Amino acid sequence: MNNPHPQFQLQWESEIVEYVQFLWEKTRTRSKKGEPSKLGVNVPLLGPRFLPPSYLHVQKRSGGGAIEPTMQYLKPLNIVHPFYYPQLGQCPRCRSDKDTAWEGWTSKGARELHGLFCEEAALGTQLRCNRCRESSKGKTGGDAASGMVAAIEGYCFATTSAMYWKGWEHWRIPCESHAQVVSDLTYSAAAGGLPIFFYRCALTRDLFDLLVELRPLSTSAGLEERVRREYRAPL
Ligand SMILES: [Zn+2]
Repeated sequence: MNNPHPQFQLQWESEIVEYVQFLWEKTRTRSKKGEPSKLGVNVPLLGPRFLPPSYLHVQKRSGGGAIEPTMQYLKPLNIVHPFYYPQLGQCPRCRSDKDTAWEGWTSKGARELHGLFCEEAALGTQLRCNRCRESSKGKTGGDAASGMVAAIEGYCFATTSAMYWKGWEHWRIPCESHAQVVSDLTYSAAAGGLPIFFYRCALTRDLFDLLVELRPLSTSAGLEERVRREYRAPL
């Protein structure tokens, strides 16, 4: 599921993780009144889909270094994190959103994502459910009686895993983040939204929508050729 990533891709992803972690720490609810902290106006708000800088960015920014060819091979990174999608804090198994806690980034790294215009990656976080943890310690079975989804096991779920999204109909999956921002690094993210995660593969939202629309009218080979011809720019 997770292909080894080249070092420049890992570095790009680690810088984004640092940035999102900073946003998350700065805006976490700390006061007893439950009001979230606010970001300063000088902090740029980017994401949840991060596009690599183009040559134009390197050329026009002061202090820009030499243009590296590896930049051309960086994959866009989609972040599936509660900073952008607070509604993801609900346990997929017992539906509770009171007994769950975020446990940091998924330990397996970014997941490959098939995209319409290029291949992408998605990085998620771990959601732990204390209620499911307690019930798994105590008794076995009886999930249906306690209102739990029987097909889902465990108490710790990555937001990029098929298990987490098993109970979501695709039309319920958020199309836009609460914090969707169009900026110089996310200018083509307006048509984005949360990717769709399956066991064997994951898709960007725009590719998934296209497949839903066209698949009944075409063979899979014909569809592949059409995407390659009409959407993929030659390198
Ligand atoms: Zn649970």
